[in-house]
Amino acid sequence: MILDFIRRLLGRSPASDSPAAAGSSTTSAPSPAARSASTSSGPAGPRVWRGSELGIRREQISSAAIRTCETLQRGGYKAFVVGGGVRDSLLGLQPKDFDVATDATPEDVQALFRRARIIGRRFKIVHVMFGRETIETSTFRALQTDAETDEHGRVLRDNVFGTQHEDALRRDFTVNALYYDPIADQVLDYLGGVADLKARVLRMIGDPATRYREDPVRMLRTVRFAAKLQFDVDAATLAPIRSLADLIENVPSARLFDEMLKLLESGHALACLHKLRDEGLHHGVLPMLDVILEQPHGARFVEVALNQTDERVRAGKSVSPGFLFATLLWQRVSDRWQARKAQGEHSIPALMEAMDSVLDEQAAKLAIQRRHIADMREIWGLQPRLERTGRAAVRVIEHLRFRAGYDFMLLRVQAGELPEELGQWWTDFVEGDPTAREALLQAAASEPRGGGSGTRRRRRRSGARRGARPDAAESDGAVDDAPAAPAQSDAAGGPSAGNPVGRPAD
Ligand code: ATP
Ligand code: MG
Repeated sequence: MILDFIRRLLGRSPASDSPAAAGSSTTSAPSPAARSASTSSGPAGPRVWRGSELGIRREQISSAAIRTCETLQRGGYKAFVVGGGVRDSLLGLQPKDFDVATDATPEDVQALFRRARIIGRRFKIVHVMFGRETIETSTFRALQTDAETDEHGRVLRDNVFGTQHEDALRRDFTVNALYYDPIADQVLDYLGGVADLKARVLRMIGDPATRYREDPVRMLRTVRFAAKLQFDVDAATLAPIRSLADLIENVPSARLFDEMLKLLESGHALACLHKLRDEGLHHGVLPMLDVILEQPHGARFVEVALNQTDERVRAGKSVSPGFLFATLLWQRVSDRWQARKAQGEHSIPALMEAMDSVLDEQAAKLAIQRRHIADMREIWGLQPRLERTGRAAVRVIEHLRFRAGYDFMLLRVQAGELPEELGQWWTDFVEGDPTAREALLQAAASEPRGGGSGTRRRRRRSGARRGARPDAAESDGAVDDAPAAPAQSDAAGGPSAGNPVGRPAD
């Protein structure tokens, strides 16, 4: 506290160089500052608000973020919580993570903390670690007007340190450019972010078209924040997206993956996907989204899956990226799988071919990480085995990814793709004690081949197999119904218990 006071006297506190520092501010006009931001980086100081008067409670801010700011300030530097941590706290939402911005260089930051690691090639940031929490700490930086760009205007390098005001200007939305000092309980607002937050408007800082060209990922961020925060998008911010949507294709695919994942894990995935499609943004990200959302059947499956994902996220539970992408791409995989089987291919190789072709197609747009691809393959690969009831369930249930495969199968049931009795049989089996399980196995064995699932009967009725080899229908685990012969599926080139798709994950 004393140090804080001395710093204030010496003019180190950000509030002291602000014309509006004299107390809490009232609502500012919708930010003309934000609109002219790309050209103005003049001396105008921030408006300063008392955090508590805006509704920020210190308890909402992670103690790790507060300690990071305290240590930096004690070292003589400016330090603020920025971005989503401030925005969400002001909105009464639980922030996902906390970032800190400072005028200390990465080396300065590292020197002040026991557990801090400098990361990043283009622009160094510091991960300050407290227990399991990591606070991403970055030095104020400027967006140069003469930054190196590609031929479409995408900024390739923005690695120049800048003032705090410049740091605000290079951020994306006014509501993302608020700085909270948890020690002084002050919010610094250079661009009218507080007014926009109160009006629930998402407004791009500077000229929106230029900002989208600099970094097309911002278009995805507009969609995500509008859906997540349920904000109106300022008309000028929305307008250029449709015509610039194709620029998404120039973004490195690993970066796209990160942003897409944030979008899918926002708790508003379904709304985001619809909005992506409305704005024509999906071509460069999920080219099959048209197919996914347009086919009545596919739409149902994706809707069921994403609604469930959104519910999980909102309940604070984790979702697995592999599972998420497996649901998004399933319709395509399933269509191709069925088509190949209809041409007489064995079920398992047909499924593998279908998976490969869909994953190859998708990889050209969005680099889904290998470990997630491995999960997707396993989840999909378990499906034929889960379409059967019977003795082989004993082995299937021991599979490492059984739970994900089973949850996925239940989604298919909910979407009307598989019969309800099948889902029920598996649920009873999963939840049953050994006696109950044995009874279920006996019951499945005594039913006509195809057991309680009804899937095989359904497919036959659909006529999809006409012309198929007579044994093709049995190749994807039909042995599951035959109590004594579980190994046949392996012998037939089918799955083994440890590797349901019968091939090493890539
Ligand atoms: P959340 O973490 O809740 O998804 P966030 O706003 O914190 O939202 P991050 O991706 O964590 O989003 O980024 C932190 C901050 O960095 C943002 O609030 C914004 O100020 C800035 N930022 C992130 N990405 C961009 C970008 N592409 N262009 C400009 N500024 C960005
Ligand atoms: Mg964040």
